[in-house]
Amino acid sequence: MAPVLGCIADDFTGATDLAALLARSGLPVSLRVGVPAETEGVADAVAFEVIALKCRTVPVEDAIAQTRQAYSWLKKAGATRFFWKYCSTFDSTAEGNIGPVAEMLMAELGTTQTIYCPAFPENGRSIFMGHLFVGEQLLSESPMRDHPLTPMRDSNLVRLLAPQVQKKVGLANRLVVAKGTAALQEKLENLASEGVMHVITDAVSDQDLETIAAATAANLPLLTGGSAIAGKLPRIYLEQGVVQLSATSNSDSVPKGGQLVLSGSCSAMTRKQVAYYASKSASLRLDPVALAGEGAGAAEAWLQQRSAEEPTLIFATAEPEDVRKAQEKLGLEKASQLVEQVLADLALQAFHSGVRRFVVAGGETSGAIIQALGIKRLDIGPEIAPGVPWTFAELEGERVALALKSGNFGGEAFFEDAFKLLEAA
Ligand code: ADP
Repeated sequence: MAPVLGCIADDFTGATDLAALLARSGLPVSLRVGVPAETEGVADAVAFEVIALKCRTVPVEDAIAQTRQAYSWLKKAGATRFFWKYCSTFDSTAEGNIGPVAEMLMAELGTTQTIYCPAFPENGRSIFMGHLFVGEQLLSESPMRDHPLTPMRDSNLVRLLAPQVQKKVGLANRLVVAKGTAALQEKLENLASEGVMHVITDAVSDQDLETIAAATAANLPLLTGGSAIAGKLPRIYLEQGVVQLSATSNSDSVPKGGQLVLSGSCSAMTRKQVAYYASKSASLRLDPVALAGEGAGAAEAWLQQRSAEEPTLIFATAEPEDVRKAQEKLGLEKASQLVEQVLADLALQAFHSGVRRFVVAGGETSGAIIQALGIKRLDIGPEIAPGVPWTFAELEGERVALALKSGNFGGEAFFEDAFKLLEAA
């Protein structure tokens, strides 16, 4: 079917988060890793198509080239409405890439207005009078101030966006949004008559997001923002009758086969999850320094002896002190790459021994494993924890289930919860 919404996300875990929120509606969601070739997959497009790119911090021209390609593919698949997804903390540099990509998409679509709504009130990201807050802190006073790639030193989204775009930037503030859909639509029209093409929309609550989505879903072919505003769209489309719930869902053919947890995340929550699951499964710890010296032979042999059906955990997850030591010995880049490579190789080995259900912890680690397995498309299944769904993919003609969890997502029993949910599906 022609997608009811074509989404382009500027990074992989952002795309997964978006896909998970859209899938809460029960409508089919498909996540493509990178832009599919020409017309590949166009015929099997579903209601919500999400293309995951890696263009948050690449040079502006590269981001525009990548997103233009993604747009072309979505258009070929039949999409007429589009969503440009970026981080809820508006991660960008003085040049872009949020504004320039939006302007390119607007030009392609021949539209004269779009909105910018990174707010995610459930996760403490709110916008008031154009200022973005992280919890109770202004963005510029939050830890994002010191982000290594996109330090956010201003919280005023109008001011942040203006140098990124050619046309005028304006604000639909919370006082207008609080008055409801009609008032917001009127404000957008007034701004349009003043030549304001880029409108920051305040939102401090879920209700605000609903108002904004209701005011714009039918009128604007391009919306931009975080996953939370996009998450409000499926219900509106269902109400408008532009899409229907079908009896089939992505969970219809859940892979059975063996199970494995692979963890390359060293985040605080992952460390708890690993400790918890290690007490319930056979586990193997990978030490990057040992891997650099002796290779992965011992880990491969260990995995070979495991039955695919038994709970098994392989992790490089370590305390900050140990990570620092490994990085000092090997260099940060080498330590990371080594761990990611070995985990990816072990995933493939496990697949060949019959494992069909994988839980992977770590954003970068997930990306590396997906790439190593050559997976290009994920169907979104049931949500294990907020923002982390089971996903299903084809690998060498077999269906596999993958739960890809970044850093601090999920509770202590996440790994166990994930398999339980799949068994119940
Ligand atoms: P998260 O989502 O928690 O940030 P990522 O997978 O994105 O997790 O990042 C963790 C990084 O740390 C990966 O590149 C991984 O290879 C690396 N890593 C994992 N374990 C170790 C370790 N013991 N020493 C050094 N680096 C490690």
